[in-house]
Amino acid sequence: MKNIIFEIRYYLLFLILFIGIFLYLIFGSENPTNSVNESFDYREIERSSIDLEVFSVGGENKQTSNRTQIIYVEKNNTLIELLSESGLSNKYIRALIKAKGSEKLANLKIGDILEIEISEDQIPKNIFLTTDGLNGINANFNNGLFSIYKVSKKPDVLERFASVEIQDSLYQSAVEADIPDSVIMDLVYIFGWDIDFIFDIRPGDSFDLLYEEYYWKGNKIKNGDIKAARFKRGKKVYTAVRYFLENEQKEFFSIRGKNVEKAFLRSPVEFSYISSKYNLKRKHPILNKIKAHTGVDYAAPTGTPVRTTGDGTIAFRGNNGGYGKLIEVKHSEDYSTRYAHLSRYKKGLEVGDKVNQGEVIGYVGRTGRATGPHLHYEFRVNGMHTDPLTVKLPAAEPISDKEKDAFFKTAIEVMNKMDDYYLKLYAETD
Ligand SMILES: [Zn+2]
Repeated sequence: MKNIIFEIRYYLLFLILFIGIFLYLIFGSENPTNSVNESFDYREIERSSIDLEVFSVGGENKQTSNRTQIIYVEKNNTLIELLSESGLSNKYIRALIKAKGSEKLANLKIGDILEIEISEDQIPKNIFLTTDGLNGINANFNNGLFSIYKVSKKPDVLERFASVEIQDSLYQSAVEADIPDSVIMDLVYIFGWDIDFIFDIRPGDSFDLLYEEYYWKGNKIKNGDIKAARFKRGKKVYTAVRYFLENEQKEFFSIRGKNVEKAFLRSPVEFSYISSKYNLKRKHPILNKIKAHTGVDYAAPTGTPVRTTGDGTIAFRGNNGGYGKLIEVKHSEDYSTRYAHLSRYKKGLEVGDKVNQGEVIGYVGRTGRATGPHLHYEFRVNGMHTDPLTVKLPAAEPISDKEKDAFFKTAIEVMNKMDDYYLKLYAETD
């Protein structure tokens, strides 16, 4: 008896499989059922109007009866647990776990995104595990079977243009123009080398911005990069154009090919306040006599990381009288910087080591002649002390001669594009 049931089961299974293949050949050619890499067409959609009609992009929102849940994976979550919480019944969960390749889907990491699409009558349609909304493992349910395969979706990249006049603060005005936070941060970073966004901004200053957004099936999945920007402060216009160098590194240059970044950071400590400025006639707090203060003091707790403000080579690392634990970085023939009163140096850091701008080289302390924990920072040009707060910082590497032509072509294209968008927004109509 048992054997007969067993055989009938197999018979049924073959029948289902046969019907399944049959149906697939007729209708299902667009649904991938094999373990193949699925790759979608890359389409950069040029907007023809200023209003973003994102929901016309994918055009595949026909099956409105399906419900997609988006779950962010947290600590100790398991696939089975999340699937049953989503309302998927045990029989489908079991079928998924048995399917070939399911172990890849079960490999959840904190922060992963699990998209579970279930039809109105509680039948699974699609399960997608991804870190970035684009790449991941997909389980498609079709004809009673799950097929699991790697997916690498190519999103639609849409351009957005914004032209904003600043009312009170840059941030507030940008938010009101619906510019996403990450793009505002990028804008501040790009122009922050030249413009102090707290003190230098006046009402009426304005900026134009061209940036990207990534969409998948009409839904925005992430913010993209700034492609170009120009910032008008009074009569002066600051420009920035995104450019990928031959080595694929992304850089921003002005339309004249100048790097928007400087060769030096303004400050070697991130969270601190200036407790003593550069002053050649200062009375020293410990020695109590006139002693020039040839640097800037940054008050910060002991242990706060100290960053080298520019690329260079460690020229000195050790105790040096009143400086206490001192590091000197030589940046070029002309420029060097000093970091004093450190509590300790970065482990393994030796004289002669190369360091990159922003790299941590030591930690704030109060060694040497110091009344409390702070960083004493000096900036020397041609061996002469210079005020680090007011020195005109040299720009980082400009566009190379070799890549100049290609860059200017990009720069002109993208600036013209911004003009077009601007005119579409503001040109008078009759
Ligand atoms: Zn000092």
